[in-house]
Amino acid sequence: MKCILSLACVTFFSACLSTAQDKQASGGEPGKIALVMHGGAGGLVKDTVPAEQEAKLREGIERALKAGYAILEQGGESISAVQAAIVVLEDDPHFNAGKGAVKTSEGKHELDASIMDGATLKAGAVGGVTIVKNPIKAARLVIDKTWHVMLAGPGADAFARINELELVEPDYFDTNVAMQKLDPAAEEYHFGTVGAVALDKNGNLAAGTSTGGLSGKKFGRIGDSPIIGAGTYADNETCGVSGTGQGEYFIRRAIAYDIAARMKYAGESVAKAADSSIATLTNDGGQGGVIALDRKGQIATPFNTSSMVRGSIDTSGKMTIKIFAD
Ligand code: ASP
Repeated sequence: MKCILSLACVTFFSACLSTAQDKQASGGEPGKIALVMHGGAGGLVKDTVPAEQEAKLREGIERALKAGYAILEQGGESISAVQAAIVVLEDDPHFNAGKGAVKTSEGKHELDASIMDGATLKAGAVGGVTIVKNPIKAARLVIDKTWHVMLAGPGADAFARINELELVEPDYFDTNVAMQKLDPAAEEYHFGTVGAVALDKNGNLAAGTSTGGLSGKKFGRIGDSPIIGAGTYADNETCGVSGTGQGEYFIRRAIAYDIAARMKYAGESVAKAADSSIATLTNDGGQGGVIALDRKGQIATPFNTSSMVRGSIDTSGKMTIKIFAD
């Protein structure tokens, strides 16, 4: 009897302990998973985009969604799902991130990326890297290996080298697509940055963004994508956000954080908050869009351009991929 009782006590106390631990790690409603991604907002115009190009964009987003979602399904962390999904599009030349990145006015590639964990508010970013195959991996390593948030330029490249990330020759990023993007008047011009926001089984949110920046940007220019609060933000209390568009406008209004702040202080839903922030962007004369996901798995994807490549797998497991307005 005594033995049964003490066994019961041990079971009871370990149950209490694991509930406390789960609670600590938990953000939203444990169990629900969701993933939303973008492949850039821009000037693609419906019915004028070659079918082949449209198919490549859709196919890329689908592969990326599946890669990230597989991690969430296996109970993996949202930050790992975000990273895995973004790596797929960094390796895909049809997007302006990693291979396929646009060029600076000097004809070089300078890449930016960031990632943020909504459970701990830990964030990592790299700006202006030139030889890192997957900048999002370098951003993640900034969290894992340093107490900093952002590393930039040659220091960020050196950091990737020291940590044995895969390095490439600068011309690895060259593609025909990048050449076309250098000419903003070219029909195929579009921003093409990539981003992801995920909700994992523990209710934790994470967000990340990766880009070659704006076509023809001045050397040394850093956009919103690696700036926490501008192009990327995640907080379990509110939402995860990744933006795409004219970075200077996103930086001035801290657009990603603005969405989270509207939810936190004004009690707005993720849809209303994201719409309000994009309305501000529009008023300012800026172009772009965001993907946002809250801890209940609600998704918002507003944009003020003619297109935003985007896709999601919602809490019911339904996949949706779109390029133009509904
Ligand atoms: N926001 C990126 C930047 O300004 C570009 C983009 O999203 O396409 O660098």
